[in-house]
Amino acid sequence: MSAGKVAEVIVEVGGVGLQKPLHYRIPATLDDEISIGCKVLVPLGKRKVSGFVVGFTDTCEVKEPKEILRLFDDGQVFSGEQLRIARWISSYYLSPPQRTLQCIAHPKLHRTNPPKVKYYYINFSSEDLDKVMGTLGRAAKQAAVVYAAAHTPGLTKKQLSEQSGASYQVIDSLVNKELLKFTEKTMERKPFSEFNKMNNLPQLSEEQTAAVAQIKTSMENGLHKVFLLHGVTGSGKTEVYLRSIAHALSLGRGAIVLVPEISLTPQMIKFFKERYGDKVAVLHSRMSHGERYDQWERISRGDSPVVLGARSAIFAPIRDPGIIIVDEEHEFSYKQNETPRYHARAVALFRAHLNKGVTILGTATPSLESYCRSLKGGQYCLLDMKNRIDNRPMPDITVVDMRREFKSGNNGIFSSQLFQAVKTRMEKQEQAILFLNRRGFHTFIVCRECGLVMKCPNCDISLTYHVHGKLRCHYCGYSQLAPGLCPECHSQHINYLGTGTQKVEEEAAELFPEARILRMDSDTTGRKGAHQRILDSFSAREADILIGTQMIAKGLNLPGVTLVGIVSADMGLNMPDFRASERTFQLITQVSGRAGRGDIPGEVIIQTYNPDHYAIEAAAMGDYPGFFKTEMQIRKQLQYPPYTKMARLVFSSREETKATELAETAFGALNGYLEDMNKLMAVGPAPAPLARVRGNYRLHVVLWSTDESYLREAVKKASSAVQKKGTGKSTRFSIDIDPYNMM
Ligand code: ADP
Ligand code: ZN
Ligand code: ZN
Repeated sequence: MSAGKVAEVIVEVGGVGLQKPLHYRIPATLDDEISIGCKVLVPLGKRKVSGFVVGFTDTCEVKEPKEILRLFDDGQVFSGEQLRIARWISSYYLSPPQRTLQCIAHPKLHRTNPPKVKYYYINFSSEDLDKVMGTLGRAAKQAAVVYAAAHTPGLTKKQLSEQSGASYQVIDSLVNKELLKFTEKTMERKPFSEFNKMNNLPQLSEEQTAAVAQIKTSMENGLHKVFLLHGVTGSGKTEVYLRSIAHALSLGRGAIVLVPEISLTPQMIKFFKERYGDKVAVLHSRMSHGERYDQWERISRGDSPVVLGARSAIFAPIRDPGIIIVDEEHEFSYKQNETPRYHARAVALFRAHLNKGVTILGTATPSLESYCRSLKGGQYCLLDMKNRIDNRPMPDITVVDMRREFKSGNNGIFSSQLFQAVKTRMEKQEQAILFLNRRGFHTFIVCRECGLVMKCPNCDISLTYHVHGKLRCHYCGYSQLAPGLCPECHSQHINYLGTGTQKVEEEAAELFPEARILRMDSDTTGRKGAHQRILDSFSAREADILIGTQMIAKGLNLPGVTLVGIVSADMGLNMPDFRASERTFQLITQVSGRAGRGDIPGEVIIQTYNPDHYAIEAAAMGDYPGFFKTEMQIRKQLQYPPYTKMARLVFSSREETKATELAETAFGALNGYLEDMNKLMAVGPAPAPLARVRGNYRLHVVLWSTDESYLREAVKKASSAVQKKGTGKSTRFSIDIDPYNMM
């Protein structure tokens, strides 16, 4: 008997453990059908489990491998290239291979085929129409359906029902009577309206021309190269992307463009559709599963060689991507916050390298990681665009010291400068944006007698006061009515502190009674399309002031806006996160960038209690290199990334002792590695800054080292100690390499 071919299969079971593929014999009946990327059913102990074929082997360690039971009818769910990407992610981020494969696989894995639509016809010769109508006699509804179907062949059920006034049941009964028949066709869901092709391309600015020329040359060489496109807000980075993509297409190659989810607005989609029509596929999380499926199919078939999408679009089955663009490369949302905790920029770099393609990282505020690689002797090529299109001036930025405002007797939200500036805009009928990175009304409720802060019962976080007396937890969504008395000491002296967007809205309405005000935060954009409706309304000048959270910071091009007020620049500054200053600098710069994008120059007013903070000073001066220099010195002193590599282990459980035990087990396993303080630094096990979320206690261990492989080795050691001990049902353990979420 021949041994038969043996397949390597990653089975879809198991927790966090790093898994090796298992060996299964391929039955002769499936010999021709099984290839890498297929999904199969295999026996595992007494169970039957699904798994992915990731390779074949001749040297099988098992003497008599079991046989693959069957092949799922999805066919291939990932390609050889995608498998290589998954392997890289699993080894870099130490994520279980089955979880990584599930993440990159074709969406058909997760459900449904595209919908089939039925088209109805009469099931008799049209010459017999009168006769048939006669037999229907008094069944008027049935007659109406038959009549409609005879006159307009090929209606859908919905159309047929609308035209005849009959219900779906009547239509079905006619099918049963064999008076109607239908054909079924799959229909591609079109999530986008049609766009007209744009024929007149804008003339590139000098800086754009220079950037595009370098990118083109590099593409012609067919070597992997990374460009950091550092362009101030309004310098026209999108146009550089579009021209570079056109060049990739002309070379017969594909393109991937990643944008943060929040900037994947219809406006952005329109830009790409106008240029490339159906050649662009779009992927984002608000799409239905079916829409996503169709886009994925288009890409697989090669019909759409360009994909525009959020984070996970980096896995799209584009063939031979010659260019991969990461717009707003500094955005933290490119990092996935669940296993596999990959960073889309890192995957983009790997994938471009694999395909000998070009990567463009575009931003007005580069991440420290990327910028230091683009300096002299670094691996990236820096493309600078220092001027706005048409030489529009950068906005004029003023920093207001809120401590002085307070001393001079103003304890409102608006400093006198901001008040004046808004007032002037209203008089001149220009628009203003007010930015505050906190939604709700008040952010704290404190009892003045006993000091109690109202907290969420499930999370270690204070409740936020919203209008109508509602208290809400911004982590788990818990809500209750605000108490009239302190629940602890029954005092009446309850203080409401801190400011949210709702409060800003209320004060603005009082100060500027004539102004039309819109608010955009996750409380006002819950419904599908609400986000866009608010923006459309604001850009149609149906409102004068837009108040919002970071949702309004990104990518918006609103020419009517001549004033941006940053209500409080300090909010992110005190976060327990080594990137707090970087985040603050980025946010101020991005928000400021929304001002003066039209013909009238813009003005920005930054309100702060820390006017001397280097991140705020540098942002106000538009001095990225200055900020970079100071921040790098601090990172170096503290040995933080990008000088080192960091890993974070999080342990969580409903039972505090379980989480603690597990964290201690992991930390204990690190003992040998921690002896040399210079090689591996660690803090923990300690309660995470968010010590409790949704009723789960959370602890973490943070590790960092200049030696990446040493760090990874240590993490693996800790991980296997945790595996050995077993996490138990209610306890969770996660590994985060290059963490961005330190909470
Ligand atoms: P950035 O992303 O760098 O902030 P955008 O790509 O949004 O800037 O471009 C800013 C504005 O300038 C957009 O309205 C864009 O259509 C326009 N624009 C870009 N390039 C040109 C050009 N070469 N000529 C005229 N307008 C341009
Ligand atoms: Zn009290
Ligand atoms: Zn909560």
